[in-house]
Amino acid sequence: MAKRLGFLVDIERCFGCHTCELACKNEYQLDPDIRWRKVYQIREDAYAMPERIFMSLTCNHCDQPECLRVCPVVAYTKRNDGIVLHNQDRCIGCGMCIMACPYKVPQYNQKQKRVEKCHMCAHKQDQGQKPACVTGCPAEALSVIDLETFTVLGTTEKLPGYPDPKITKPTTRFIQPSIGVQIRRDR
Ligand code: SF4
Ligand code: SF4
Repeated sequence: MAKRLGFLVDIERCFGCHTCELACKNEYQLDPDIRWRKVYQIREDAYAMPERIFMSLTCNHCDQPECLRVCPVVAYTKRNDGIVLHNQDRCIGCGMCIMACPYKVPQYNQKQKRVEKCHMCAHKQDQGQKPACVTGCPAEALSVIDLETFTVLGTTEKLPGYPDPKITKPTTRFIQPSIGVQIRRDR
């Protein structure tokens, strides 16, 4: 049976240390202005409570990837396990995928004049290893799931302010924060 691999992001566990970003940058020696994974602080009024909440985001390895659909040189492919790959050797840097992706995931590398993005450490997973961000997170807030078999209740694919998942059918799932666990120190 084909897999549908995606990231599971436990927002309750994440404390915004950015180690996942750095683990990814270090693994692939990314240029200083490029981040394949980014940690954002969620607007507090979105949850109507004063806690500090973070989410760690990267490519959603969508079931219907707009990046793949619009690329004029077929630089994108989707593997049988669901991972969406970008081939830099084919890329001509036209930026169509950057405009098409609702999550603004593909990033333009000014030096190489081409686009790049997360590939879920596909080569590591092929060897039974976890992606660098998953291994690097000290809070164990990140994991890879197979949506064909994943059944944990209470996860969501949509967060406040997030694009409509109907557009590309992202495979990332989130465990939402519970109220009253995190405490602000600057008040
Ligand atoms: S998140 Fe964007 S770049 Fe990633 S697969 Fe979906 S449409 Fe493509
Ligand atoms: S490494 Fe883990 S705890 Fe730190 S920002 Fe990333 S997801 Fe959050």
